[in-house]
Amino acid sequence: MSQKFAKNLLITGANRGIGLEFVKKLASRVDILFAGCRKPSEAKELNALKDVHNNIHVVEIDVTCEKNIQACIEEVSKVCGEAGLSCLINNAGANKKPDNKVTELSLDDLKRIFSVNTFGPPIVCKHSLSLLQQAAKTHSDQIITKPLIVNIGTGLSSVSRMNRDMSCYYSYNMSKSPLNMFTKMLSLEIEEDGIDVIAIHPGWVQTDMGGSNATLTVQQSIDMMLETLSNLRQEQNGTLINFKGETIPY
Ligand code: NDP
Repeated sequence: MSQKFAKNLLITGANRGIGLEFVKKLASRVDILFAGCRKPSEAKELNALKDVHNNIHVVEIDVTCEKNIQACIEEVSKVCGEAGLSCLINNAGANKKPDNKVTELSLDDLKRIFSVNTFGPPIVCKHSLSLLQQAAKTHSDQIITKPLIVNIGTGLSSVSRMNRDMSCYYSYNMSKSPLNMFTKMLSLEIEEDGIDVIAIHPGWVQTDMGGSNATLTVQQSIDMMLETLSNLRQEQNGTLINFKGETIPY
């Protein structure tokens, strides 16, 4: 069996796509895996995995609702106890059909997408921080040697790389750029606590969001991201990287 990736791990948006594949790949490589989703009772694949791996806890989390986030983290805390949480993956994300003209913008869509992609991860981090700090106090044998926050970002958030060929999602691209600032600021704030923060672009992946023409299968993306996350260098803390570990400039 591969070396343990992390002691305890929480991932949001775990019921399908990239999140579900992380659960499949990591269930046997952590002590406890909290698989977060909006509707646990409807998460068929997750519940089937839970029947095979009794270390999977399916927890309810809607990243647009602070009370719900708080309740979820309280549940996680009760199970983790003194070990704390060694890895948080902010994966939940939302998109809409292409809106490549400013005249196609919709305030309702912008609010919905920003609620998930922009406001969700910081509020999940706010409530998880004490658990990550707790994990930093205990040394254990795992691949990530320090507690780690992984924000699933995108190359489309890069202002410096944006060009007309790739700018087909105003709402989505705009909603992911602030995640880069958050990643950087949080990394600076909690560096002294011994906690790392990274934003990672999974590639263009065959999921409901990525579509069937995407270049990577979900298995390929997760395999490469896990390899990259297992070999993070300290200078990458607070940056946006792709699934291969290459820097994407903000
Ligand atoms: P999917 O659309 O396949 O899955 C999105 C996941 O996010 C679902 O589990 C969904 O749950 C969950 N989610 C949506 N809204 C909320 C919410 N309010 N609270 C909690 N969970 C929520 O997308 P992917 O798996 O492709 O994307 C995962 C991440 O990767 C996203 O952050 C995305 O932006 C990013 N990404 C994806 C790329 C790709 O090519 N696929 C490329 C670059 C980045 P539900 O079933 O309840 O809707």
